[in-house]
Amino acid sequence: MKIVPPRAQKGQGASLSIVPIFLLVLCVMGSMVLVANRAADRQHEYELDRERRQVAQTLSFEAERLMTSVSRDEALGELFQVQRQREQAERILASLNRRQATDFAILINRMEGEVVAEAGDAESFDQRRNFIRQFIEGSRLRGLDATTLGIGREARIVQDGVNVINLAAVPIGRNHVLIVTRALGANGFRRLSSMLAIPNLRAVPGTTNVETSYAIPSLGGTEQLAIVWSPSRFAADTLADLAFYGLFASIAIGIVSIFLIKRMQASTAAILKREAKASHEARHDPLSGLPNRAVFCERLAENIEDLVNRDTNIAVLLLDLDKFKDVNDTYGHAAGDKVIVDFGNRVKPLLKQTDLIARLGGDEFAILQTGIHSHLEPSRLAQAIIDATNKPFTMDGAQMRIGVTVGISISPDDGTDVATILRAADTALYRAKNEGRNRFALYEHRMTEAERIRKLVDDELLRAIENDELTLAYQPQVHADTARIASVEALVRWRHPTHGLIAPGVFIAAAEERGLIVALGEWVMRRACQDAARWPGLRVGVNVSALQFRQANFVQDVHRIMRETNLETGRLEIELTESVLVEDADQAEAAMMELRAIGVKLALDDFGTGYSSLIYLRRFAFDKIKIDKSFLDSMEATGESAILVHSVVHLGRALGLEVTAEGVETEEQRRFLQAVGCHYLQGFLFSRPVPAETIDQLLAAERAEDAGRNAPNAA
Ligand code: C2E
Ligand code: CA
Ligand code: CA
Repeated sequence: MKIVPPRAQKGQGASLSIVPIFLLVLCVMGSMVLVANRAADRQHEYELDRERRQVAQTLSFEAERLMTSVSRDEALGELFQVQRQREQAERILASLNRRQATDFAILINRMEGEVVAEAGDAESFDQRRNFIRQFIEGSRLRGLDATTLGIGREARIVQDGVNVINLAAVPIGRNHVLIVTRALGANGFRRLSSMLAIPNLRAVPGTTNVETSYAIPSLGGTEQLAIVWSPSRFAADTLADLAFYGLFASIAIGIVSIFLIKRMQASTAAILKREAKASHEARHDPLSGLPNRAVFCERLAENIEDLVNRDTNIAVLLLDLDKFKDVNDTYGHAAGDKVIVDFGNRVKPLLKQTDLIARLGGDEFAILQTGIHSHLEPSRLAQAIIDATNKPFTMDGAQMRIGVTVGISISPDDGTDVATILRAADTALYRAKNEGRNRFALYEHRMTEAERIRKLVDDELLRAIENDELTLAYQPQVHADTARIASVEALVRWRHPTHGLIAPGVFIAAAEERGLIVALGEWVMRRACQDAARWPGLRVGVNVSALQFRQANFVQDVHRIMRETNLETGRLEIELTESVLVEDADQAEAAMMELRAIGVKLALDDFGTGYSSLIYLRRFAFDKIKIDKSFLDSMEATGESAILVHSVVHLGRALGLEVTAEGVETEEQRRFLQAVGCHYLQGFLFSRPVPAETIDQLLAAERAEDAGRNAPNAA
C-alpha cells in the first residue's frame, strides 16, 4: 500500500538557507570594511600631505612675517644713515632686536663680505656669525652689486645645529645687508601647534622617517633637523569607530536575523506539518490510519485508466464485518475500535505492495487488488481474509469472534467506471450476506433484477421518502354504465435520480421484506388524503399491505391522518388483500370493524388470486371486491372464466358488495362486464395511473360535458 509521501523535508532545506545568507552578509560586510579601509588610507595620505604643506607654509610664513616686520621698522632708516658707523649701528641693531624679538642681527658689507656691525645674545654670537657666513656664501646675497638692489631681500626657516632659525635678510643701501635671526623655541612651536590645529608640533634633531615630519633644510648639509607632530588620525579613528559600531551592529543584526530565520523556519515547519497532518487526516481514517473512501475511489479511478495499457485486471473487494455490532454492544466501543484496528492489521500482510485497503466507514472496508489474471485471485484473497478474521480477537483477556463477508467485482468485466464497479461489488456483497455471511461472492451478471431492487430499497428507500422522491399516481375507477369517474386508486411511484421511474410492483415486496413498508404506507396514506381534498365527493383508494395493516396502532394512525388532513368520512377506501385475513383473522376482523366505525371503506383487492371464497369472506366487513386482472386475462382464452366472472359479480352483488373489475383494456371486456352487472371498471381502457393534475383535468372535462349536455335541454 502506497500512501502519498509527506512533504516533510522542507524544514531542513530552510535551515540550509542560513548558510548562504550568512556568507552573503559576511561578503558584504567584508567588502565594506575593505572599501572603508582604503578610503581611510587615502584620507590619511591626504591628511599627511595637507599637514606637511601646512607646516611648510606656516614656517615660511613665519620667516616672511619676520622679514616684513623688520623691513617696516623705523630703525632701518636710522641704520641706513649710520651704516658705516659701527657703534651707532650696533646700538640701532640692539634696539631692533628688542623690538622684533630677534636674537641676533648683523649688518654686512656684501661687497667685501665684512661684518659692519652686530648685536645679539652673547652666547650665540660666534655660532650665529658662522652660520650667517655660511648662509651668505650659499646664497645669492653674495657679490651682488648695486644694480641688483632689492634682490637681496630674503626670508627663510633653516636649521642651525639643533635649532630652527627664522632668518630675514634685508638690503640696507647699495652695499649692505642686514640679517636678523630668531630661534624658534618650544613656545613658538606650541603657538604654531595651536594655530594650525596640528597637535604636538616640535623640532627633533637628526633625520626621521616618521611620516608626520617635515625636514628643515640645513645650510651645511651635515646636521639634520625635522619638525614632527602627532598625526591627526581622523579617518582612521572614524573607521575604528565605524568598525567597532559596525561590528557590534553586524553581530546584533546577525543574531536578530538568525533568531528571525529560526522563528520563520519553526513556523514554516509547523505550518507544513499542520498541512501535512490535515491532508493526511482528510484522506485517512483516524482510527485505523487506513486511507478513506475518497482515496480509494481516486486510486480505483487511476487503476481503471491504467487497465487500457495492461493485460491484467483489477478486483474490488467490499468487506463487511459480521457480528461487529455484537462486539460493540457486548464489550463496548473500545473493543469495537480495537477490532477495527486489528482487522486492518490482519488484512494488510495479505495484500501485495500495489494493493490498497481503505476503511469506508463503520465496519466496512474495501480492497483494491491489482494485477490479477482471473477471479481465482480475489477469491483466494477473500478466503484468506475470512480465515484471518475468524481467528479470535482479544481484548483485556476476552476473546471475541467475528466474521467477514466479502463481495467481489472485477474490472473491466463488471464495469469500467468507479460507480459501476463499486455497485457490482456491493451487489455481490449483498448476495453473500443473503447466503449466510462469513463468505464471499463474486458479482455475476445473472444476478437478478429483484436482488438489485431489494438492495436499492435497502439502501435508499428511507432517504427517498425523506427527499420526496416518491409520488402518487391516481387511476380512476369509472361507473360501468356511464364511464364517469367514481373513485381513484392511489398507486405509489419512485422517481429515482439515477434509475428513473421505479414501479411499485418492483419495490413494494422488498419494502415489505425490509420492514420499510410501514413508513412508506404512512407516507402514501397522508399524501392520498391530502390530494383527496382536490376532488370533493370522490373516493380515494389506498393500498395497504398486510404488514402495515397488522401494526398495532394502524387504525389510530389512519384516524389521525384523516383528522389532520380533514378528510370527510366515507371518502377513504382501503384496499386489502386476502393475505391480511389469513394469519390472524380475529385481529383483522376487529381492526376492520374499527375502520368501518371511523367511516373508512374497505375493498378486497386482487380477488381471484387467493382462496377467493366469497362465503368465507362474508365474515369480514368489506364494501367492495376488486376482481383481479388475471380473471379478465384468462377470460379471453377460455369461456370458463367468463362464467366465473359472471358468477363472482353476481354473488358479490347478492352479498351487497360493490364490484370493481381491474385491468379493463378492451371494449369487449367493458361490454361484458357491464352486461354482467359489474359496478365499476378500472383499466387502461379508461385511464392509466396519472398524476393528480390529470385527474383534475379529467374531472373538469366531465363537468364541461355535463354543462354541454344540460344546456340544450334547458333551452
Ligand atoms: P394493484 O393494487 O392491483 O394495482 C393495480 C395495478 O394494475 C397497478 O399497477 C396499475 O397500474 C395496473 N393496471 C391498472 N389497469 C391496468 C390495465 O388495464 N392493464 C394492465 N396491464 N395493468 C393495469 P402498479 O401501479 O404497478 O401497482 C402494482 C401493485 O403495487 C398494486 O397492485 C399494489 O398491489 C401495489 N401498490 C401500488 N401502490 C401501493 C401502495 O401505495 N401501497 C401498497 N401497499 N401497495 C401498492
Ligand atoms: Ca389495489
Ligand atoms: Ca388489484
